[in-house]
Amino acid sequence: MSKLRVLFCASEVYPFAKSGGLADVAHSLPRALKDECDIEVVMPLYKFIDKEKFNIQKDSMSFSICLRKETFEVTIHRTIFEGVSYIFIASEPLSNKDYLYGTATEGYSDNSLRFSIFNHAIIELLKMKVYDIAHLNDWQSALVPLLLQEHKELETKTLFTIHNLAYQGLFPYDEYANLGIDSHYFTMDALEFYGQINFLKAAIAYANNITTVSPNYAIEILTPEFGVGLEGFLAYHKHKLSGILNGLDSKHFCASTDELIYKPFTNLSEKKENKKAYLKESGLRGINKPLFAFIGRLTEQKGMQLLEDALEAFASSNINITLLGEGDAKFSKAFEALATKHKNIYFEAAYNEALSHKIYASADFLLMPSLFEPCGLNQMISMSYGALPIVHKVGGLKDSVKSYKRFSKTAKSGYGLLFNKANSSAFINAIKEAQKLYEEKRTYNLIAKHNMSVDFSWNKSAKEYLALYKQILGAKHA
Ligand code: ADP
Repeated sequence: MSKLRVLFCASEVYPFAKSGGLADVAHSLPRALKDECDIEVVMPLYKFIDKEKFNIQKDSMSFSICLRKETFEVTIHRTIFEGVSYIFIASEPLSNKDYLYGTATEGYSDNSLRFSIFNHAIIELLKMKVYDIAHLNDWQSALVPLLLQEHKELETKTLFTIHNLAYQGLFPYDEYANLGIDSHYFTMDALEFYGQINFLKAAIAYANNITTVSPNYAIEILTPEFGVGLEGFLAYHKHKLSGILNGLDSKHFCASTDELIYKPFTNLSEKKENKKAYLKESGLRGINKPLFAFIGRLTEQKGMQLLEDALEAFASSNINITLLGEGDAKFSKAFEALATKHKNIYFEAAYNEALSHKIYASADFLLMPSLFEPCGLNQMISMSYGALPIVHKVGGLKDSVKSYKRFSKTAKSGYGLLFNKANSSAFINAIKEAQKLYEEKRTYNLIAKHNMSVDFSWNKSAKEYLALYKQILGAKHA
């Protein structure tokens, strides 16, 4: 039987362009599937992507897309990277910006146009070559299932993955002409959302199947607390909704081979050398004090208010806390002020891949007080680098971190500390509990060592995606 032909569509893919976890998934899932499927990845060719470094070559293929009575020229570019074939879509408004979607405070004013071009370009690719499955990700490629309604000659089936329901691609109705979609789709059961355009709804309505990036998140988004206004619409389509937990790129995040860290390690005493080097670099002091780390976007979602309260509670105490991230100015200012005042707090307001690896390799505990978390990768990265994550029991964090109190050497899961309620006192109590656990050296080491041995790779989840592709295609590929 021939291999499944899959077009994996994403607006960001590591290492070409990354703003968050989607880029990691779009990099590592196709790689995990490439032996089983004939898979190609398509993404926008942003201006800042280093064409030379990645040997991205212009293809002879080009076409134009007509939106709002204007013609947009599209050129196709290609490369092969780590054995995966990549297609890049280049077109003026999509490709001429300094960032992916906008600055930290504001999205670009022509994003509905930019990503409509991306979606229409995907349809052109589906016309040029036969693909069994188009695997779409987040709002930036969510129009494709709807556009396929107008191309019944194409037999491509669609799987849509929601990486974060909070980002829906909402635009005012007066931008409708940017979409190149007939106005009869502007209804409650398709694109309309309280008078606005909602890209995500197009995929929920018309994709053959929908996944979220963890099983628990697939359940949570059916409730008003986590549904971001789409809970009713999702409930209506829930027969095609399920969750598959993200995996880690076990090559990129591998303590024993990681070239970005001070010293690759296979045990906790070698890890200590990384901690020592990091403390020196950051100016933090006390190798025997537990090192707590936060790495991520400084947004409400990531529980930054809880983190700020915890920093105040543990300022000048007997633990070290290091933070790496950029985002809301109100949090970065508050963290900056706390770090300046207290010697046990260090804050780097940056996006820095290499530094993040060094911190994972040094931390004893990772802080993840997310208010909601579709999957989360950091908790898994930290466990594979021999740390214990402290997480709010929500979304994918609940699926991927088991309580250290139920530790079993033979289990396949990783362990950390979970707190139930998203409030500062619960989070602070969890950190105090972690402090105590750290003092019980033998127990702490046993769990940290176990975490390092757990398989967080894509092996299991890639198989689940493959099974789902086959299920979507029905008998033909069963
Ligand atoms: P998100 O909600 O941002 O997608 P995830 O936990 O799914 O969160 O993925 C975050 C990814 O981005 C991880 O690989 C994490 O290490 C990385 N990351 C986040 N912020 C930073 C930063 N400031 N510097 C380096 N890496 C970061």
